Amino acid sequence: MQQPVSDSMSSVAIQLDNIVFSYPGTSQPVLAIDHWHVAKGAHVFVEGASGSGKSTLLNLITGTLTPTSGSLSLLNTPFSELSARKKDKFRAQHIGVVFQQFNLIHYLSVAQNIEAAAYFAGRKQHYTINNAAAMLDKLQLPDSLLHQKASTLSVGQQQRIAIARALINHPQIVIVDEPTSALDANARDKFMQLLLSTAKDATLLFVSHDTSLSHHFSHHFKMENLNSARSISC
Ligand code: ADP
Ligand code: MG
Repeated sequence: MQQPVSDSMSSVAIQLDNIVFSYPGTSQPVLAIDHWHVAKGAHVFVEGASGSGKSTLLNLITGTLTPTSGSLSLLNTPFSELSARKKDKFRAQHIGVVFQQFNLIHYLSVAQNIEAAAYFAGRKQHYTINNAAAMLDKLQLPDSLLHQKASTLSVGQQQRIAIARALINHPQIVIVDEPTSALDANARDKFMQLLLSTAKDATLLFVSHDTSLSHHFSHHFKMENLNSARSISC
């Protein structure tokens, strides 16, 4: 179904239409979202209790889960209709993800962790090395860290490297799954500051149960409203 791209459509980063998702073997859908769109450049906070479907929503948007029905479009691309290979390529080029547990590869060096993200996006190695060093600077980490194994990093360092890895390709969409749950208030504020300054030009979708973080964002939704109301946009 091809539709002309109007000016207003071209400014949409994430669009969900009639999305229903149930885990295989279960009958009750975890998500049923009639319509939700997020404008390019918006910084969006989605609040929800544990088990409310936040990670499921993010996994649908990044294409690691496929909707049971409905369509998902990202940057005007009908993402849910792409082949698995095209999804992987699109994700590597346009989406940066910071996971709750950071998901760094522990036996690789920091540089190799960051390079892997750039490699999958088809970047040349010299691009990555220069940019990884610049990114570490931005995140207030020494260049010497690049050659350390990820397993030797402190939690705070792991978080910053997870941001570096998510943002090395300058993705247009940045997805963050409550990465601050294990942090004290001080470390949390620092993390938020670094994340927001490095992702400032991106469309940012951040989910958490911790509502004290919502003031950092231009838009704030509750999972239960996304899951029941019709036609929500920002
Ligand atoms: P949140 O991230 O908000 O804590 P999740 O998206 O992880 O919530 O989970 C939403 C619901 O889906 C929960 O009831 C959870 O038990 C269920 N769920 C999550 N993953 C699976 C799975 N692989 N199979 C079946 N049910 C799942
Ligand atoms: Mg979760």
